[in-house]
Amino acid sequence: MHLKCLEIERFKSFGPYTRIPLLEGFTVVSGPNGSGKSNIIDALLFALGLSTSRGMRAEKLSDLIHQGAAKGEVAVTVTFALDSATGGGDLTVCRRLKVNGPNSTSSYQLNGSPCTLTDLHEELARHHIYPEGYNVVLQGDVTGIIAMPARERREIIDELAGVAEFDRKIEAARRE
Ligand code: ATP
Ligand code: MG
Repeated sequence: MHLKCLEIERFKSFGPYTRIPLLEGFTVVSGPNGSGKSNIIDALLFALGLSTSRGMRAEKLSDLIHQGAAKGEVAVTVTFALDSATGGGDLTVCRRLKVNGPNSTSSYQLNGSPCTLTDLHEELARHHIYPEGYNVVLQGDVTGIIAMPARERREIIDELAGVAEFDRKIEAARRE
């Protein structure tokens, strides 16, 4: 599968509507410092349901709203082109965040139909996409992995290889 398109509304440095089409294969985004390259990755993580604003380099969720936006609402839609092995066609994921004073609410859609965050994460996991995982390697992650104790590094490798899930199942069975 590959990332086919990102549609960004009022997220961080992006105004009312920006559409970023992506081709299959290797893509490079270049631009001056502070021009919004990393914000594209933050927007992707946002749509995948990342809950911590820190993971999107913001103090709080309301900081994700474009400064000067006419309304306190952001939305990001991500379209994946699926491989024929996983059914082909497109998978579209959308998250909308509404901020009203100190309150914020997120709503999610899968292929245009409203769903819960759990539904979203389950669907993404079927395609091996994990917003908290290592599909996205952020600035500093590589040095972090090199510098961490061997045991922690092994845990990451186990997670990536899919072994950790079986370890958790073994542990759960032992407790029963
Ligand atoms: P670098 O090359 O330094 O990594 P970059 O292209 O990755 O830069 P980003 O970190 O994506 O840049 O963008 C930072 C910019 O986003 C800053 O100029 C900041 O003012 C702007 N920005 C962040 N949040 C908002 C917001 N809520 N409203 C408007 N602009 C924002
Ligand atoms: Mg950057």
